[in-house]
Amino acid sequence: MAPRRLTWRVGEVVETRPDTPRTKSLFLEVPDWEGHRAGQHVDVRLTAEDGYQAQRSYSIASAPESSRVELLVERLEDGEVSPYLTDEIRPGDGLELRGPVGGWFAWEASEGGPLLLVAGGSGIAPLMAMIRHHRAAESPTPVRLLLSSRSYEEIIFREELEDLAAETLQITHTLTRSTPPGWKGYDRRIDEQMLTEFAFSPEEHPLAFVCGPTPLVETVGTALVELGHDPTRVKTERFGPTGG
Ligand SMILES: Cc1cc2nc3c(=O)[nH]c(=O)nc-3n(C[C@H](O)[C@H](O)[C@H](O)COP(=O)(O)OP(=O)(O)OC[C@H]3O[C@@H](n4cnc5c(N)ncnc54)[C@H](O)[C@@H]3O)c2cc1C
Repeated sequence: MAPRRLTWRVGEVVETRPDTPRTKSLFLEVPDWEGHRAGQHVDVRLTAEDGYQAQRSYSIASAPESSRVELLVERLEDGEVSPYLTDEIRPGDGLELRGPVGGWFAWEASEGGPLLLVAGGSGIAPLMAMIRHHRAAESPTPVRLLLSSRSYEEIIFREELEDLAAETLQITHTLTRSTPPGWKGYDRRIDEQMLTEFAFSPEEHPLAFVCGPTPLVETVGTALVELGHDPTRVKTERFGPTGG
């Protein structure tokens, strides 16, 4: 018999919570959920009345310590699946899913670090699972997060990140389209200079996780290696074909 994580099953949406104007968190209860590692994702499958099916991947944003599975979905205007998940689905509805999937892009507190996290937009989702796990496990590992968002209003998980910032968790933001008055963070796309200023040095041998739109992931992955970071410790996950 195929392992449970490879078979389709139905989770129940128990809560939906808007986060930014274009994102929503879905909280699911999945029968016999065997747990996940921070950074893993699930595959979600929608079936239309005529039998047409569409399948997409969504990272698990909740910590392994949480009993509910949280998915953070960004609405793409012309998308097939994401507008349904952000606009239509309601508490009480079922959602067909398979997982958890993916072992490479995952972190457990016992692996240590230091941890270098770089995300663009909804790419924060799997990294949020790591940050929440870091907190829940009371890990002493130093963590630095660089998060690129279009504007202040579009910073995903902004309030929770503000609450979580601590001596062991340093958060840096860059806003690529607009900045509020008095903004002291970065205001451009992530580049090598920014990474030099923000990242741990290669000598500190950080474990890096980079996630978001393909162009961001490629730029950051390449820059980290050029800066001298160990390529085997730079892990990347691409969410989609276009930039944000
Ligand atoms: C491993 C993995 C984990 C993922 N985790 C998340 C997550 O946690 N949250 C989340 O919101 N999404 C996540 N994604 C992206 C998600 O799987 C879908 O690609 C996304 O929701 C778009 O699906 P759609 O059906 O709405 O759009 P589609 O109908 O597939 O595409 C509509 C249009 O948007 C473009 N497009 C497709 N994907 C993206 C994208 N990601 N960014 C920008 N433009 C795009 C297409 O080229 C097309 O023009 C993940 C992807 C992968 C591979």
